Amino acid sequence: MKFTFPPSAKPDTIAINDWMSWTWQLRHSLKSLEDFSQSFELTEDEVRGFAGADQVFQIRSTPYYSSLASRTNAVDPLRRILMPSGRELTPGAQAMLDPLGEKRNNPAPRIIHRYPDRLLFLVTDTCSVYCRYCTRKHFTGGDQAFVRSAEYDQALSYIKSKTGLREVILSGGDPLTLSDAILDRVLSDLRSIEHVEIIRIGTRMPVVCPMRITEDLARMIRKHKPVYLMTHFNHPRELTREAAAGLECLVDHGIPVFNQLVLLNGVNNHPAIIQALSRRLLFLRVKPYYMFQCDPSEGTDHLRTSIDESLEIQRELWGRLSGLAMPSLSVDIPDGGGKAGLVPNFEVEKSPGRRAFVGWDGVRAEYIDPAKSERLLPFDAETYSREWDELKNAKL
Ligand code: SF4
Repeated sequence: MKFTFPPSAKPDTIAINDWMSWTWQLRHSLKSLEDFSQSFELTEDEVRGFAGADQVFQIRSTPYYSSLASRTNAVDPLRRILMPSGRELTPGAQAMLDPLGEKRNNPAPRIIHRYPDRLLFLVTDTCSVYCRYCTRKHFTGGDQAFVRSAEYDQALSYIKSKTGLREVILSGGDPLTLSDAILDRVLSDLRSIEHVEIIRIGTRMPVVCPMRITEDLARMIRKHKPVYLMTHFNHPRELTREAAAGLECLVDHGIPVFNQLVLLNGVNNHPAIIQALSRRLLFLRVKPYYMFQCDPSEGTDHLRTSIDESLEIQRELWGRLSGLAMPSLSVDIPDGGGKAGLVPNFEVEKSPGRRAFVGWDGVRAEYIDPAKSERLLPFDAETYSREWDELKNAKL
């Protein structure tokens, strides 16, 4: 089957040139109760959300992304992502403002350094849509569209000083809310650091404002290769004609694109939805990469799925999606414990030398397990072992 991607629902009153301008989209963002009530029939719960949720987390959506959500149906999946709810006012069972413990791994301004070989560089506070499940509510939506120059210099000096680093992940906020010129400067500064091999850009702009992806932007990013773009589609309906064109533009310029989704109650917690999303992404040459448990950030209990439910979804996808199309289920251990992979268990019996499995469609078989051997050194292991030691011994 070949997929087609429907265009977004541009209102007739808006000129196409305005609609397709990312700066117009940002300038005309919906922020207040009044803005949203012009596009949506708001429920009592949503009005309650406007009255209090902005104390915890800002409210904002591009006109483009709002046009994808239902005007009348309050349980519409995309509406649940962008619309505040009165349920956000209940902090929740775990109620963490900083679920990933990022404040404890913050050795320099704007730097989250948790693993020896990679770190996050938070280059902006701003997003064009404030997703109601955001994990970084303690930071996102602040007042710096671009990091202040003193903090930028300190962050860069920190990256230079850590020679064990291999990857820098630009995040925020959403780095693609920055202009091409500023991004170009950030990427050039990072590329001038000898030990930085890989740069990643974490962004939801291809989802919520795909007009941001222009030929000029893609050419500029390509200049700094290898740069990987990590995007964040949660639902197949987010893959419009505009979003598909943006993704194709990036890939056509040789920029690898990966997708990380978050499993969300009432949005995408069904195997058919994840399958449809993954197949369409793969068709657009985007690798479905991670499927995350929703972090227990404050006011998100109504959006979180249980780990058992997430495992069931992944189990049902097994065998029905190719390895290329399959995202890996993972949970971020609260308080900065890092990622833990969650894999459905297919093993039904284990005895010395034998392991028994039942596959996705019920086939049972045994695997005769060889005894654990002494590790034989491949003849060229020494060539690579210095690199291995360097990474193994790299310090935070
Ligand atoms: S785009 Fe990312 S950082 Fe911004 S609000 Fe959404 S989840 Fe949070």
